[in-house]
Amino acid sequence: MKTLGIYIHIPFCIQKCLYCDFLSFPKGRQEQTLYFDALKKEIETSAEECRDYEVVSVFFGGGTPTSVDPQHIVEIMKILKKFYNLRENAEITIECNPGTADATALREYHEAGINRISIGLQSANDEELKRLGRIHNLRQFEECYKNAREAGFVNVNVDLMSALPGQSVEDWERNLKYVCGLNPKPEHISAYSLIIEEGTPFYQIYEGEAAQIEKNGVVITGDNKDEYPPLPDEDSEREMYHRTGEILGANGYHRYEISNYAMNSEGEAANVGTAGPLDDDGGKYECLHNKRYWQGGDYIGFGLGAASLFNGERFHNTSDFRKYLEASGTPEKQDAERLDTAAQMEEFMFLGLRMISGVSAGEFKNKFGQSIEDVYGEIFAELISEDLMVREGDTIRLTDKGLDVSNYCMAKFLI
Ligand code: SF4
Repeated sequence: MKTLGIYIHIPFCIQKCLYCDFLSFPKGRQEQTLYFDALKKEIETSAEECRDYEVVSVFFGGGTPTSVDPQHIVEIMKILKKFYNLRENAEITIECNPGTADATALREYHEAGINRISIGLQSANDEELKRLGRIHNLRQFEECYKNAREAGFVNVNVDLMSALPGQSVEDWERNLKYVCGLNPKPEHISAYSLIIEEGTPFYQIYEGEAAQIEKNGVVITGDNKDEYPPLPDEDSEREMYHRTGEILGANGYHRYEISNYAMNSEGEAANVGTAGPLDDDGGKYECLHNKRYWQGGDYIGFGLGAASLFNGERFHNTSDFRKYLEASGTPEKQDAERLDTAAQMEEFMFLGLRMISGVSAGEFKNKFGQSIEDVYGEIFAELISEDLMVREGDTIRLTDKGLDVSNYCMAKFLI
């Protein structure tokens, strides 16, 4: 049976963080209920087209899925169990922000069958959290982490963000060491750099003109934007990235994707990516759901704006809240495109090379009927000569130096 990952988008947040460009916003209970009515219908209606698939991962993302009444999530879990071929030990993740889920809610999620929780800590420094416009502080994270463990979660991810305004390399190291010092340690750590996205208050502060904008009660004008400390420079950012690998490696984690680290399970050497074939849980704590995205597996997205790669077609749902509600469970597939072979090859390379374990020449041949050398031989020669890539038997992967400049390397594979 073919395998499938399911993504479920919950677009609600208590308030908007100053750097956030995700599809998320605050809404009242009544609108949330209307949304869940439509979402549940969509999931139920789509079961028929997914009947030949075994669902191996589910991911409740957002937004803040834990900011809504937990019963909405529990009901979705019931629908998934009733209408889908959910693998018995499927990885089922919920994203959670501290301050939005109490002990009872966390127990309800776990009892409903959710077995992995991803907690958005971002920083262990209250001052940094405040500057980001986050609603939580460190004490609330600690309570959430403890409650999640007590609720029975034995697979926990903690999200951290580096290159924050005013952050030094030492500040970042302190955050990493704090997370590694949690008891018990999280099984997984995602460590991303802050990106300044257009349309956010941070863009206005760090890239924009003096125009006045107001978000979350923070008024940013040409006069007060100087109050925000500068972002770390490029060298510091690079140093943070290196220190991340070193500190997490020394604490029993291995990097398996550019920004993702999993706790080594028994017999697994530090810093060795173990990504096996799709759906193989290889490294025990590597996120199966996200690995699907990088390895080109099928996934279907439900909810506002959710994207899918399903039966060889990419499409997404509308991002318009009203339209989504009006569609009442059958939102129109937007921008549907069937990827041609060249586009599939591109994706195979630039998504696959995000994985530390790289891509397999044999798999490329099986998938496309052509040798990877025939298509990319010249680029390999160039990147290998610059020490950015290595070929080891069937495997082609970026070196540490290549991972440092991954955007440069991946751009080469666009045909
Ligand atoms: S909690 Fe996450 S999704 Fe919500 S506004 Fe903040 S960064 Fe965006």
